[in-house]
Amino acid sequence: MRIDVLTLFPELFRGFAETALIRIAREKGLLDVRFRDIRDHTRDKHRTVDDRPFGGGPGMVLKPGPVVSAVEATVAAGRFEDEAAAGMPAAPNSPEVKSPTPLMEPTPCIILLSPQGRRLDQPLLGELARERWLVVVCGHYEGFDERIIETLDPLELSIGDYVVSGGEVAAPVLIDGVVRLIPGVLGDPRSAEEESFTGDDLLDYPNYTRPREFRGLEVPEVLLSGDHRRVAAWRAEQARLRTRERRGDPADGAEADSKS
Ligand code: SAM
Repeated sequence: MRIDVLTLFPELFRGFAETALIRIAREKGLLDVRFRDIRDHTRDKHRTVDDRPFGGGPGMVLKPGPVVSAVEATVAAGRFEDEAAAGMPAAPNSPEVKSPTPLMEPTPCIILLSPQGRRLDQPLLGELARERWLVVVCGHYEGFDERIIETLDPLELSIGDYVVSGGEVAAPVLIDGVVRLIPGVLGDPRSAEEESFTGDDLLDYPNYTRPREFRGLEVPEVLLSGDHRRVAAWRAEQARLRTRERRGDPADGAEADSKS
């Protein structure tokens, strides 16, 4: 999979791209991720990307020109192996990320991160993990001029019903959630199958590891029994109980108090 991230702060992704799952996916040749500076697509000497809102009000709004140009240049450059030849400026602040994937199909899924977008969930992550190319646009300040959305017709996507200060916070949630579902990225594919929100809509069962006893708390006997059938039955029951306790019983449509 190829992922291009368009941001005002490419340097924020440096550790993210070079650590843990994302590094592993890149090293396995399963992920080609690039971070683009939206400011490289400005035309004035101050590299202006935002301006005051028409009609007044607090904060600054991202201007349509630089964001739309950045997306269009990224899409155009993605169709060429030699990006410089396609007129794509180098992103000096971007983490140094080598690209194992040469070319991709010409039509990316363009995602615009916004608290007003479709709420991200596990099935949507699964759908996105089947895409070959994602272009992820990070907003900042008060968000995007509406004409960016009208021009690009992106998938507007929210990581939840709350507001963070920039798409740079939301993008790692999206990217990590997608990348771990790409076949071959996780060492054991069962890790992504036996999880909360996966397959049966149940939360995960409780997990234990060594030591057998910690501050007087024992590992449930069944997990030490070596009886795989009993273990599976216990885990299934625990997952059902935990889901009902924390999320309510889907049968009666009730939601449990999430703080309980
Ligand atoms: N004024 C916007 C509103 O009320 O909907 C919020 C703008 S927010 C401070 C700045 C940027 O952070 C957004 O453009 C978006 O890219 C990102 N962002 C904030 N919360 C998000 C969320 N829940 N999901 C995805 N992106 C989010």
